[in-house]
Amino acid sequence: MKRPEPITEQQRKTLVAAALAARKRAHAKYSKFKVGAALLCDDGEIVTGCNVENVSYGLTICAERVAIQSAVAGGRQEFKALAVASAKAVTPCGACRQVMAEFCRDLWILLVDARKPSQVRTLQLADLLPDRFRLRD
Ligand SMILES: [Zn+2]
Repeated sequence: MKRPEPITEQQRKTLVAAALAARKRAHAKYSKFKVGAALLCDDGEIVTGCNVENVSYGLTICAERVAIQSAVAGGRQEFKALAVASAKAVTPCGACRQVMAEFCRDLWILLVDARKPSQVRTLQLADLLPDRFRLRD
């Protein structure tokens, strides 16, 4: 599949820093697993999210979806890249991948290990969610 439009080194650094800052705002009192996300929108704006857990566990929402839903609520639906910061640079869950696919044919995904933030793993949504569910193309 065609690669998404490249982002600049400065955008990359800004996104990683924003994801790490968002991670500090996570409400992860049950799992203690804090995650921050920073979404680079087509207009250059960066929208962040953090995981928000709930005592009723099923109501918990991931950082990635918080960022995407905040961006949509702010009138943005075109995205270039998403940085996700966690203690182990985990990949987004299946639900988040499908939500990304709602808005993006492809997307750069930067996985940041909060313990070693200089080491960033770069993936594409198309690799994480091949043959995605779509009603039409
Ligand atoms: Zn998720």
